[in-house]
Amino acid sequence: MKTFAIFGNPVEHSKSPQMHNAGFKHLNIEAQYIKHQLEDGTTIKQTFLSNHYHGANITVPHKEHAFKNADEVRGIAKKIEAVNTYVLENNKVIAYNTDAPGFIKAIKSFGTIKTALLLGAGGTAKAIALALKEKNIEVTVLNRSENKLEFFKQHNIPNYSWESFKPKKYDLIINSTSAGLKDELLPCPTEILDSVLSQASFAFDCIYGKITPFLALAKTKGLEIKDGEDMLLFQGVLAFEYFTNTSADKKLVESMRKGLKGE
Ligand code: NDP
Repeated sequence: MKTFAIFGNPVEHSKSPQMHNAGFKHLNIEAQYIKHQLEDGTTIKQTFLSNHYHGANITVPHKEHAFKNADEVRGIAKKIEAVNTYVLENNKVIAYNTDAPGFIKAIKSFGTIKTALLLGAGGTAKAIALALKEKNIEVTVLNRSENKLEFFKQHNIPNYSWESFKPKKYDLIINSTSAGLKDELLPCPTEILDSVLSQASFAFDCIYGKITPFLALAKTKGLEIKDGEDMLLFQGVLAFEYFTNTSADKKLVESMRKGLKGE
């Protein structure tokens, strides 16, 4: 029996075990996926190896530590400098970031997008901004405070704080802040939101399982809206493909979605 895990602190709320275990069950793979509460992120590689895990996901606050500790980092994760997936390959810990491609898969249902305004500048925003850039979608970052904007400057991504921003037309507005997660706050001042939402066609919120104030406002302005469920699902499916060396078909994806939703 192979064992996989999700590392986080806290990790109790994670829906990854139910999603991955549904995938293993669907494919009749003898494996289990468990939660691993990890206090000290610097020990992540050693903990992964000493528990004989075959693969793992990494969530808040350990993604940067996981990046630094891996034996090899592949793909867009090298630029993002944070990883959410570990895979054991020939006794080496190989790391990937599947949040970025998971986000791109999640916005496919909107159709063609040329420009995007990304609200927030945290870990998730870094992955999303580089993923959009790689797909030649022009991305602009808007954050509450200046101090997290340095990463975007280094990657030549236009970036603003609320004070310096002048609203204009973007096809897609993305909320990657935690405003709306545990409160009923909007991610930026209403004057800015009113202006950019009135000119946009699509709104995406990384938060899942609820209609946030951001999505509710976008809906009243007639935008097509989407929450973060597909992003969470697709980052999981992509990690599952690395874990099992398989290519997920529609039935597997749907069984993982059901697992995620606890159905
Ligand atoms: P971080 O803590 O790294 O970043 C949070 C960002 O939100 C910062 O830019 C911060 O701004 C901003 N922010 C926080 N509170 C407010 C507020 N009240 N008003 C405006 N801005 C605010 O978080 P992550 O990047 O890790 O996660 C961001 C969100 O994405 C979370 O809600 C998380 O649940 C969600 N998420 C969803 C995933 C999915 O698969 N669907 C995957 C990962 C995350 P400042 O710099 O000024 O503090």
